[in-house]
Parts: sequence; structure tokens; C-alpha cells
Amino acid sequence: MILLCPVQDHTHLATLDELLADKPISRSGLGALEIVQVASVEPKTRKQFKECNVHWPLSFHEDKRLERILNRDFFSQDEILKIENHAKKALEAAMAAKDKGEEPVGAVIVDPLADEVVAVSHSLCSRHPLHHAVMVAIDLVGKSQGGGTYSYKDSYLYSRSAPPLKRDDKSGPYLCTGYDLYVTREPCVMCAMALVHSRMNRVFYVSRQCNGALGSRYKLHVNKGLNHHYEVFRIKGLADDSIRKS
Ligand SMILES: [Zn+2]
Repeated sequence: MILLCPVQDHTHLATLDELLADKPISRSGLGALEIVQVASVEPKTRKQFKECNVHWPLSFHEDKRLERILNRDFFSQDEILKIENHAKKALEAAMAAKDKGEEPVGAVIVDPLADEVVAVSHSLCSRHPLHHAVMVAIDLVGKSQGGGTYSYKDSYLYSRSAPPLKRDDKSGPYLCTGYDLYVTREPCVMCAMALVHSRMNRVFYVSRQCNGALGSRYKLHVNKGLNHHYEVFRIKGLADDSIRKS
């Protein structure tokens, strides 16, 4: 016989008396029962599958990509070097911002197929409350495509020069489609949503923020209600084995 019920505190293995306290179930004739915990959701990793399959038969379809990420076998050495170089550019931009009395946050947007920097930015919040480094970087990508909203007169900022798109030319990418963002600080909710709207492909950030929207306080990038999702990685200490999926 199997009695199955949810528990509030998964760290505490409740006794049978506690589990049946408010339930109209007679214990007479049940004999000695073994209480074990079973998963309430399907396993996503092989490790979870092995742990959960001991007491509760499960079907499992391995996500090989996810397993490589968890085993830190996802990026090649060449890719890690490129990631570190772009992250260091973002850190340099953050230092430039600090030297100017701005918030020390830097951002770099890269076209990974060409391994080409499309935009470099840093925080300009002292001039405009919405000019977070990520927002400025996205706007600079817009400029590289003949658009953009704001005019910046800052020598450090960079936007790849490209001929403006003709009015009827639909061949160019939609803003950040296929691009990667490197930013020194975990984006806030506003910036994280701007990354959804601009169709960013991947986001790499260095330091967590207590109000961060990509892992710390919220996990906006895995919200199923959104019509676009990007992958998020956190870079720890810029060491060669330090890139984790957030
Ligand atoms: Zn922000």
C-alpha cells in the first residue's frame, strides 16, 4: 500500500502521526510503514533522476546540453578565452565609468559569429536615470543599425559603424538577435526586460546583485510567459573554469 501526500518542509521527514494528524485515515491494520520522500516534479538532470528513482519509478530523457553545462564541459578553451576577453572589456568600461564619477558598471555587446564587438557602454545614470549600462549598450546597437534613441557625447562609448538600413530593407538583424551581452553587474528587471525585447541571445555577468533579475532575486530569463528567452551565465573571478549557467 502506498500513501502519497505533499509536505511543506522537504528538509524534515515527518512521522506517520504528523502526516495523518488531520486526515480521516484509520491506521489500524497498516502495520509498520516506511516513510520516504519522493519528487513532486520530473527530474531534469541525471543526478536528480538517480536520487529520485530509488523509491519512485521515473522516466527520464537526458538533456545532453544541460549535462555538459552542469559538468562544466560546455565551453571549449577557445570559447572561454573569448568570453574572458569580452568580460575584461566590460570591466574596463566599468572602471572608465568610475573614473568619471558614474556607477561602475560596464557592458559589451558582441556578435559571436564574427567575434566582433558591436557596442561598448557604461552607466550614465548621473545624466539620465534610465541610462543603465545595458540600456545604453542596446541603444548603441540600435545606432549601429541606423536607429538609436539617445545622443551620447562620451568618448569611451563605442558603436560599430554600419551603413543605415534603407527604409524597406528587412535583411538586417532585429536589434540584438544572435548577439551576446557581457556586463559587470547582474541586470535589473528593467534591463532584463529590455534584453527580452531586443532579442539578446546570451547574457554573461560578473557579480550578483541583491535585486538582480537573472538569478539573484528573480529569474526573468526562465519566465515561461515571455515570448523570448536568452541563456544566462555568471562569470566567477574570470578564472578558466569559472563560467556557470545561472
Ligand atoms: Zn538596469
